[in-house]
Amino acid sequence: MTGIDPLALREALDEAREAIAAAAKRSGRAPDAAELVIAGKYVGADDVPALVEAGVGVIGENRLQDLQAKRAAPGGGALTFDFIGHLQSRKVRDVVDEVRLIQSVDRESLMDAIAARSEGPVRVLLQVNIAGEDSKGGFVPGQLDAALEHAARCGIVVGGFMALPPPAADPEHSRPWFDRVRAVRDELMERWNPDHDLTDLSMGTSQDFVVAVEAGATIVRVGRGIIDRARMEP
Ligand SMILES: *Cc1c(COP(=O)(O)O)cnc(C)c1O
Repeated sequence: MTGIDPLALREALDEAREAIAAAAKRSGRAPDAAELVIAGKYVGADDVPALVEAGVGVIGENRLQDLQAKRAAPGGGALTFDFIGHLQSRKVRDVVDEVRLIQSVDRESLMDAIAARSEGPVRVLLQVNIAGEDSKGGFVPGQLDAALEHAARCGIVVGGFMALPPPAADPEHSRPWFDRVRAVRDELMERWNPDHDLTDLSMGTSQDFVVAVEAGATIVRVGRGIIDRARMEP
């Protein structure tokens, strides 16, 4: 991998943030209603100083080792980390105290591990397999009530849901899935208030984050679409 150009990255971030603010307004919300999280898998620890210089705030990591390497890199203390990948229960201990939010709680046994290994309250999102795809983990909508009950029994307050709809050539094809996640959330929110918070919807990636914000996302996770624009030629 070649280096990241901080100026090009800043420009790409500014553009994405403007697009997000405009989409939030179109959805009848405040311009800052949705937050940009940069997916970390396309950048390495060597890139951390450039990321910080460009104004990256929150990074979503899929792997514990990557998170630890970036945290330890020069400037890494200025970054906030979310966990967005499949998390093995035996790694929970190392992750819980390092992250702001675990976005990818995909099974009840992971909640047990989180409850057992965390000192204070941990903010989590439940991963929703909204299209019921065999290739994806997470809870299908019909399992969410039981999952929220399990979380409540563990003493975990769920902050909302994370979803990754099936790959689509046209971002508009993602809209019905985002709408469905939102509808499922709205219904559960009525039932589970105040035991769970459920305000956060993490949905939308490079190809469809604008549509996701229009549909109600509060967090978008964008990787390639932003990073590729800042990667310098070899
Ligand atoms: C990589 C990744 C993203 C970002 O995807 P891009 O297509 O690079 O924007 C979002 N969410 C998860 C869980 C990811 O692993």
